[in-house]
Amino acid sequence: MALKTPEQYEESLRKMNFKIYLMGELVKNPVDHPMIRPSMNSVKMTYDLAQKPEYEDLMTTKSHLTGEKINRFTNLHQSTDDLVKKVKMQRLLGQQTASCFQRCVGMDAMNAVDSTTFEMDAKLGTKYHERFTRFLKMVQDEDLTVDGAMTDTKGDRGLAPHQQADPDMFVHVVEKNDKGIVVRGAKAHQTGAVNSHWILVMPTIAMAKEDADYAVSFVCPADTNGVYYIYGRQSSDTRKMEGGTIDVGNSQFGGHEALMVFDNVFVPWENVLMCGEYEFSGMLVERFAGYHRQSYGGCKVGVGDVLIGAAALAADYNGAAKASHVKDKLIEMTHLNETLYSCGIACSSQGHKTASGTYLIDLLLANVCKQNVTRFPYEIARLAEDIAGGLMVTMASEKDLNHPEIGKVLEKYLKGAANVPFEDRCRIMRLVENITLGTAAVGYRTESMHGAGSPQAQRIMIARQGNLEQKKKLAKKIAGVKE
Ligand code: SF4
Ligand code: FE
Repeated sequence: MALKTPEQYEESLRKMNFKIYLMGELVKNPVDHPMIRPSMNSVKMTYDLAQKPEYEDLMTTKSHLTGEKINRFTNLHQSTDDLVKKVKMQRLLGQQTASCFQRCVGMDAMNAVDSTTFEMDAKLGTKYHERFTRFLKMVQDEDLTVDGAMTDTKGDRGLAPHQQADPDMFVHVVEKNDKGIVVRGAKAHQTGAVNSHWILVMPTIAMAKEDADYAVSFVCPADTNGVYYIYGRQSSDTRKMEGGTIDVGNSQFGGHEALMVFDNVFVPWENVLMCGEYEFSGMLVERFAGYHRQSYGGCKVGVGDVLIGAAALAADYNGAAKASHVKDKLIEMTHLNETLYSCGIACSSQGHKTASGTYLIDLLLANVCKQNVTRFPYEIARLAEDIAGGLMVTMASEKDLNHPEIGKVLEKYLKGAANVPFEDRCRIMRLVENITLGTAAVGYRTESMHGAGSPQAQRIMIARQGNLEQKKKLAKKIAGVKE
């Protein structure tokens, strides 16, 4: 079976034995939990769209390993065309879910681990790439969702992993034997953790010899013994427990992050993909980050499309659509959003083949893409709030809207254009609130800042890749400065 149906995906999650803490309690049934379910629906959409003939070209491709049809989320990019299609697929899913659909972290991790293990084996004579390829084949055959896990909790940011007061601030190897390794530590902000079948762990920074125990990469089932999750809160998350469909803004979809704890987890050697080869830690981090910075030129743009649409509808419903400043703000939002998309497409089309055959994006352009993502969604959100007006945050609850007497008073005083049903205006206000300030703001705003690395991380890469010396030479030549 190369493609799972959305129903098969949901069923496969029900069979897993996750240990998840949410608001002080162990979750018995994550798939149906009202706070988790919308995030599962977003991942499910990656399976759903892959079944539709109109999206076949974007959502599926042929495995370079088996020739079978696979979901693009399990693909290793075989060309720049694949890289471009990846971004287009992410924009499509952002449009359809208006949230983070989570499955990209694993896709980006697998692509980075593929080329890195290949080059590591070539230099050091290790055998990691073979193991990784076996894992990838299983992921493709069973159409699995993999969670790429990179971000360590890091403790004191001024200290290297081995210098930390608590040695567990970075995931590390605590024991090695002839069967495998035992690891301990935690990965933070893990997107889609409890909607995934497997975890692919990677180190979080370039490392030196003293940190060799921290230079570790491996795969393990997401419900393996010793792994547990502490589910992250989002603003307005408990509205999902109220059972309505208006106050939540987006009642069907969402995203989630969790703290993923490795409490002395045993990993057999066949699942270990790096163990002490600290010289390759930096390459893996740089490539994974590059792919995920490319990703944001797709997913955030898709969510941006929904937000621009919501702002335009708010203007219609408020009776303000003809005002020239409103039109101009919508143009500005579109301009910013398409600039992000241009960056996502540019770094993809300028990609190149690595030694393993897998294509890598242009790293400079991918970092420029993500640097813009740390800014433009904030401006797009500001303009959406400007156009929507204060009602998006002062409106009464859904229960008041449905109240037999109070509901009529609210409708009388809060109705906008006479031809627009009052409920429609409420729904659009709440959607703008959801993306700019509510549960989806995690993915659209703060994740735009810190996801795939905080702004300074991109500036370091831009400095490294910018080639100032060559630019100086150009200037000298034009100005007639002799070398
Ligand atoms: Fe995918 Fe975007 Fe979510 Fe990352 S933030 S997992 S790229 S949807
Ligand atoms: Fe992300």
